[in-house]
Amino acid sequence: MYDKFQKHLTSQINDIKAAGTYKNERILVSPQYSQIKVNTGKEVLNFCANNYLGLANNKQLVDAAIKCLQERAYGMASVRFICGTSDLHKELEAKIAKFFGTEDTILYAACFDANGGVFEPLLTDEDAIISDALNHASIIDGVRLCKAKRFRYANADMADLEKQLQEAQSCRFRLIVTDGVFSMDGNVAPMDKILELANKYDAMVMVDESHSAGVVGKTGRGVTELHNCRGKVEIITGTLGKAFGGAIGGFTTGKKEIIEMLRQRSRPYLFSNSIPPMVAAAGIKMFEMMDQTNELQDKLHANTDYFIGKMKEAGFDIKPTQSAICAVMLYDAALAGKFADKLLEEGIYVIGFSYPVVPQNQARIRVQLSAAHEKKHLDKAIAAFTKIGKELGVLK
Ligand SMILES: *Cc1c(COP(=O)(O)O)cnc(C)c1O
Repeated sequence: MYDKFQKHLTSQINDIKAAGTYKNERILVSPQYSQIKVNTGKEVLNFCANNYLGLANNKQLVDAAIKCLQERAYGMASVRFICGTSDLHKELEAKIAKFFGTEDTILYAACFDANGGVFEPLLTDEDAIISDALNHASIIDGVRLCKAKRFRYANADMADLEKQLQEAQSCRFRLIVTDGVFSMDGNVAPMDKILELANKYDAMVMVDESHSAGVVGKTGRGVTELHNCRGKVEIITGTLGKAFGGAIGGFTTGKKEIIEMLRQRSRPYLFSNSIPPMVAAAGIKMFEMMDQTNELQDKLHANTDYFIGKMKEAGFDIKPTQSAICAVMLYDAALAGKFADKLLEEGIYVIGFSYPVVPQNQARIRVQLSAAHEKKHLDKAIAAFTKIGKELGVLK
């Protein structure tokens, strides 16, 4: 059998290569940071990690993890409800709830699992899920696992959301689901308007804060802070794998009965290992840091404003953004690929995105800013963008 299957896979893989969408992985031989070393020996400035607050190699978090590793050893070797719950898990869950102004939290191995396990235990075929068209793959998969009726609205389009809500009025319960920040443009979900519509059409709201937690809002509390609606959405999901240290782990936080039901019925929670104690301990430390200082958020916001301001001044076409994601629009797919390659030669690591990851003729380079960037890093990137922009005829 495998002979035939091997040929089948090889031909599919060749198709992916021919389409130009084959993913090659660059191999880092240094810690994740603003400056990284790849296995060719080259050192580059990193503008494509989700390390928004630079915490992926923060000394205090590393120390907290080491101390915990020595005291609590390596793994839990159990799901939470058998013997995999430690005081550290409970403490981290409480810290997350405090951070978002919610009632309770349930941890998962990843946000992919949080989203995969949130819909099916809560909703049935009598209910409706109304989902933004650009929501993350894990939300799409989670919705697929649930029997609720599916409604989709165009990205952040409130007129379309209203229409879908009207169509879903005969359902028992309605849940609107959105990403907090949409990762290809960096735009933020209009939570205030979503909540108004939820109120008008009697719906609940869920937001995935993976790209916004730690980043968006003056103190990084996410889109509910930005739009002044802390505590008003029923469900928030998020990751510990981006701004919050970048290791591993996800969570759902929100109304306590929802969290209680997820602990009873959510399959990725019931049938998958609990996160390592050292990850929980570093997470606890991280939320303590966020309580004490806003230094990293302030620096990230200053870096983002500076970078975008200078790039616009240089003449680049930048998508409107309220996050630490900056999409430099080039429109042409081949140009975006070439631009990113040339930037790498200049020591700037960024990724070009084209169809099917973004719509046709909307190719771009996505830059992700971080509190780990110093002004000289930003200046170097801006200079490299400007140089290549002129070379490739993007700038005059
Ligand atoms: C990154 C991301 C996830 C997945 O998070 P993991 O913890 O890495 O599984 C889920 N949702 C959104 C919106 C994301 O950006």
